[in-house]
Amino acid sequence: MSLQSDKIIILGAGPAGATASLFLSKAKINHTVIDKAIFPRDKICGDALSGKVLPVLKKLNPDLIPQLLVHNNNCKPSNGILFAAPNGKSLEVPFKPVTSTLTHSPGFVSKRIDFDKSLVDLFDSNYCNFKQGVEIKRLSAPITKSGLKQRVVKFMKQIYSLPVMGHTALPTNF
Ligand SMILES: Cc1cc2nc3c(=O)[nH]c(=O)nc-3n(C[C@H](O)[C@H](O)[C@H](O)COP(=O)(O)OP(=O)(O)OC[C@H]3O[C@@H](n4cnc5c(N)ncnc54)[C@H](O)[C@@H]3O)c2cc1C
Repeated sequence: MSLQSDKIIILGAGPAGATASLFLSKAKINHTVIDKAIFPRDKICGDALSGKVLPVLKKLNPDLIPQLLVHNNNCKPSNGILFAAPNGKSLEVPFKPVTSTLTHSPGFVSKRIDFDKSLVDLFDSNYCNFKQGVEIKRLSAPITKSGLKQRVVKFMKQIYSLPVMGHTALPTNF
């Protein structure tokens, strides 16, 4: 398969690849997303969407939280995680609300078969060329960690004109 004309190819349409695609489409940037699975596809997971997920969805589009989470019967509100050990000991980790004026729960629980499909359904065909059922077996040009970092930083600066390093857009250990 030749994808020479696409400068940006996202491998994997899980939450990472799907949200990357949605941000690219928001910035009107053409790209291709490839996944070996055909959606809906399931994924082993605890299915929890913690308080950290919500601001990302909100940044993408403020209507997404009501649409995908609050008014979705497949999705349940969650206030945190309870870890319980066989010896009866437990640990509670409450989700922090994004703002003090939050009108819904700070987190949610949604099966990945539903949540990941709902993100893929938002792909904008004007900018996103989505190829599902296509497995990538080999990359012809291996990407080194430092090479990838340089390219991501350059790309982020071009799109957002941000001083990317040290900005929360990238993990601090990136
Ligand atoms: C037991 C368990 C419980 C978890 N519980 C939680 C939780 O409660 N909350 C939480 O936030 N996180 C949880 N996680 C972590 C969470 O599952 C991952 O962080 C998340 O799935 C990562 O998203 P991703 O988009 O990077 O990758 P994935 O969701 O794994 O998506 C990768 C995609 O790439 C595709 N792909 C892979 N290889 C190829 C290839 N060669 N060619 C084409 N396509 C390919 C796959 O089909 C897949 O769709 C849990 C993980 C595990 C294992």
